Amino acid sequence: MTATDPRPLTGEPVSLDLLNTRWNVEGVRQDLLTDVDGLAVWLTANDLEGRFAADAGTLRHTLTARDALRALVDAPGDPAATARVDAVLGHGRIRATLTTEGPGEEAEFADPSWGPGWTAARDYLDLLRTAPDRIRACAHEACILHFFDTSRNGTRRWCSMAVCGNRAKASRHYARTKES
Ligand SMILES: [Zn+2]
Repeated sequence: MTATDPRPLTGEPVSLDLLNTRWNVEGVRQDLLTDVDGLAVWLTANDLEGRFAADAGTLRHTLTARDALRALVDAPGDPAATARVDAVLGHGRIRATLTTEGPGEEAEFADPSWGPGWTAARDYLDLLRTAPDRIRACAHEACILHFFDTSRNGTRRWCSMAVCGNRAKASRHYARTKES
């Protein structure tokens, strides 16, 4: 039985969901991936728990992938950050497959403890191919969450309208009240 997921934002593509294992509560940094129990929660949230073990090696490599993705999201196109994500991708291979269901692809790992981190890095490639400008950080200055904007007009600014959107509205209102 896995513990419940304590994070404020879930359900983003797995690359950004990995970044969203860190978040702020009243300015205090929280981190789901401080131990293998938290890793188990994250694996389950992304349907990876059946394929990969929640152990110390997987945790270490998943954190390496998170750091690399975080560096690249903060500085898209940065050569060093690009090389770090590329290095994570080097730990997996895509094998073309044919089954009775039709053609497919299967990920293969020399070291399966890289599987979850590689899966997140691979997902980031999909986002880059789809719409790199829709990979966003929440616009609230105190928030460190990320999302992929799937709104029709591409105008999503907040991880959550209910939390950060309203906080921003409230502080704008407060600023206006103070000025007048
Ligand atoms: Zn936010």
